Amino acid sequence: MSQKRLAAEVATRKDQVMTLAIAFDNSYARLPARFFATARPDVAPAPRLLRLNAALAGELGLDPQALASPDGIAMLSGGPLPSGARPIALAYAGHQFGHFVPDLGDGRAALIGEVLDRQGRHRDLQLKGSGRTVFSRRGDGKAALGPVLREYIVSEAMAALGLPTTRTLAAVATGEAVQRDQPLPGAVLTRVALSHVRVGTFQYFAHRGDVDGLRLLADHVIDRLYPEVASAPNRYAALYAAVVERQAHLVAGWLGVGFIHGVMNTDNMAVSGETIDYGPCAFMDDYDPARVLSSIDHQGRYAYGNQPQIAQWNLARLAECLLPLIDADHDTAVRTAVETLSAFATSFEAAYFGGLGRKLGLADGNGADRPLVVAVLKALAAGKADFTLAFRRLADLADGTIDDDRWLALFARQDEARALLPEWRQRLAATGQAPAAIGRALRAINPILIPRNHQIEAVIAAAVEWDDFRPFHRLADALATPFDETPATADLALPPRPEERVTATFCGT
Ligand code: AMP
Ligand code: MG
Repeated sequence: MSQKRLAAEVATRKDQVMTLAIAFDNSYARLPARFFATARPDVAPAPRLLRLNAALAGELGLDPQALASPDGIAMLSGGPLPSGARPIALAYAGHQFGHFVPDLGDGRAALIGEVLDRQGRHRDLQLKGSGRTVFSRRGDGKAALGPVLREYIVSEAMAALGLPTTRTLAAVATGEAVQRDQPLPGAVLTRVALSHVRVGTFQYFAHRGDVDGLRLLADHVIDRLYPEVASAPNRYAALYAAVVERQAHLVAGWLGVGFIHGVMNTDNMAVSGETIDYGPCAFMDDYDPARVLSSIDHQGRYAYGNQPQIAQWNLARLAECLLPLIDADHDTAVRTAVETLSAFATSFEAAYFGGLGRKLGLADGNGADRPLVVAVLKALAAGKADFTLAFRRLADLADGTIDDDRWLALFARQDEARALLPEWRQRLAATGQAPAAIGRALRAINPILIPRNHQIEAVIAAAVEWDDFRPFHRLADALATPFDETPATADLALPPRPEERVTATFCGT
């Protein structure tokens, strides 16, 4: 349903009494008290619904109209909460830029409850920016409008691109200012996740030597996310192997769309394999494996091309936590964990080269096609070509919609790119597919739209400075179908002009 129609519906129902009934089943809140702290989300003074994700609401079995009612908006901005909600802030630790911090936890978020989605899976509903918790330290527990809009756009774009991610159910302006470098409008984002358990959650218990806590946490994770490993001979080793596998696929998926997470601290890595914690994240425009955009990543630790190594490093930290569960004998446990982690590189490479091969229209990015995949990446880097468009326009090249020169125009230096076209054509021909079919397949795998940084910045500026949310809705609407090329969204497919380039992204928390 369109935002406008939703608003109209709500207006006509204004004088009806709306009671928001949600069937919560709060499995995390049933864990022992040391896993979390009770949270008391702040009630927003003047909440205004900015955007509701009606499709996601439907997936969760929630009524979009009820969510857009005054009771719904109250819930989505901090409260009052409907019956059955049990707001908690989760305890976790984490390595931040390589340094261990034993006490992090949800400092500006409250898990208000879990719902069962249409597939019968638990999904967390979490308010981000709803005020202080016991984990807030010196922070205010709030979120500014800009980061909320950024997370809405990027997380939903990620989902539409087909990658595992936390989702955004709603963004609500609170009517309250939050103090950053300057006063900014405040907002609350409702995040939906299969689970908010992070690598850092395991570290929290491991650091305290709380093996019972670790076991309860691991069992909870198996129950929620990996039921298939429950009956394995060594369920904790099997859990670890499954987490490694999902993470390898996730990071390969990120690289395939040019995504840079920006803050891959262990507290920002979900064991569900969902992308989580959209801070100073960004999609790359021109291809450069060393690209860093996060303003807080001074050493380039979380550069685009470093993400696989960092994921592996984070998974090694997870292994350390799981050792006492994997085997009572330390040496045996270490051997098992090391062996399991070694599968990361294999899984990642298979997913990465497989994915890039498909982006070229080839079946076998891991086999005989691999040198060509590597050559394409080199040509993209040498030619500073736009990552998204260079792949997308291969569809047009394959079915004859454009000629070589049009494709090569995407490259500042064309020699390397021109040189690989004959071999690419040969390999495409060897697939035996008709050009039209190849074009179609390539358009279904190479998006025309990604959430480009300069557009996100423009959307945020219009909202924050002019209270104009039309650019935000337009961008969010367009990114819901990132593989569809339409004249109406042609401008959104364009890379930044030199003066529009964003060279640093900020968390803005
Ligand atoms: P992040 O880098 O966004 O993953 O956050 C790291 C830690 O800082 C987490 O424990 C957050 O809960 C906490 N944090 C971030 N921003 C705030 C804030 N405005 N108020 C309180 N805690 C915060
Ligand atoms: Mg975080």
